[in-house]
Amino acid sequence: MKTDTIAAIATAMTPSGIGIVRISGEDALTIIQKIYRSPKNKKNLLECSSHTIHYGYIYDGDEMIDEVMVLLMKAPNTYTREDTVEIDCHGGVFVMKRILETVIKYGARPAEPGEFTKRAFLNGRIDLSQAESVIDVIQSKNEFALKSSLNQLKGAVLQNIKAIRGNIIHEIAYIESALDDPEHISLDGYGEALKEKITDISGQIQKLLDSADNGRILKEGINTVIVGKPNAGKSSLMNVLVGEDRAIVTDIAGTTRDILEEQINLGGISLNIIDTAGIRNTSDVVEKIGVSKAKEYAAKADLTIYVIDSSTELDENDFEIMELLDEQHSIVLLNKSDLTSVTTEETVKKHLNAKVISISAKNHTGIQELEDTIKEMFFHGEVSLNDEVYITNVRQKTSLQEALDSLHLVMQSIEDEMPEDFYSIDLMNAYEELGKIIGEAVEDDLVNEIFSKFCMGK
Ligand code: GDP
Repeated sequence: MKTDTIAAIATAMTPSGIGIVRISGEDALTIIQKIYRSPKNKKNLLECSSHTIHYGYIYDGDEMIDEVMVLLMKAPNTYTREDTVEIDCHGGVFVMKRILETVIKYGARPAEPGEFTKRAFLNGRIDLSQAESVIDVIQSKNEFALKSSLNQLKGAVLQNIKAIRGNIIHEIAYIESALDDPEHISLDGYGEALKEKITDISGQIQKLLDSADNGRILKEGINTVIVGKPNAGKSSLMNVLVGEDRAIVTDIAGTTRDILEEQINLGGISLNIIDTAGIRNTSDVVEKIGVSKAKEYAAKADLTIYVIDSSTELDENDFEIMELLDEQHSIVLLNKSDLTSVTTEETVKKHLNAKVISISAKNHTGIQELEDTIKEMFFHGEVSLNDEVYITNVRQKTSLQEALDSLHLVMQSIEDEMPEDFYSIDLMNAYEELGKIIGEAVEDDLVNEIFSKFCMGK
């Protein structure tokens, strides 16, 4: 039976240097032959050998879409064991989409999430446990995320939750037994004792919840906004940060207005800089007004970097910006430290109790300290990172929150001196919610469940 030929964008849907559109299946070669043209328009890809690379262009009919490199890989020596073609194109989101649309127009269908790996599995190329571990590797965006995924594999979360559940079920059993057999088991003073235990258990769940946010930050990056008055040096800072890691940084040339994010890798941590369009476009005065930006984004961001020109006095605008900042999640950069300093850390501290760092975007000084400070703020330094337990799945996080809410209700019942069977209802709810996290209900179609978790194009 002929199987569908599938296609997807295999790289991230963010602007980057190179994008890859991947095609797999029996028609992969005929499709590429229809849309590929070599510079002299003479090459026939159907006649080329396997595992070769071809320079040329992708055309949709007469319209040239992009200049590309095409990788031909014939079955069975491919990831999916099917004929596979990879089109290395320019990494703009629009271009990648346009090429994918063309591939689909000429006979492929869009791949489902994880379908390439599913085929690799079904065609005997990899086993299920390999397929599973691919999930985490794909989803780990940087080295820290990779570490936390490995930690999860070790089952640290599982052990933690099992222990918490063990404690809860113990209390439920105690209450039930006491209600059954009041002569031998007393509930005198039990409420107070239970309160203490619940405080302890809630603390443990809260810790898991907090680490869930760290987990998101590790995997997805720290949502960061840079604010400050015009000429403080925001764009210069951006350029320095971008220069730290040119390979990973995305280039937002051209129609920058549509793009609200730029990802930077700073010493292994991803920063998603929000609204760099405004920062980068130095001629647009309106966009450069720091106050309105701060208002709009400071609330949404995990981190606000507030840039001050330290060679000038603070003024009303600075005070207004500082009003908006969340001290715990802001870093003040005293830029232009190469000039005579007028505004100092001391001056800033009078108004705002946030971390203050001296930098010179011009001379590239202070950047390491910025990096260290961010690590400290979000990961309590690098060292403890391995030991942290991360819950990253949204569903798991919801369950943790539900469990916590149920435990609050138990506390409330104790305070209101409700009968003890009220406690056990809410304790049971908490127990069940925690059970969901460690997967008591297992999906029938395990294979589909696992593969649907994959990213598109893998
Ligand atoms: P923005 O308006 O906040 O984006 O500020 P810019 O990055 O455009 O910088 C405004 C001016 O300050 C430019 O002329 C920069 O060259 C200059 N500038 C930025 N950073 C420094 C620095 O660290 N030292 C000195 N001396 N000048 C700087």
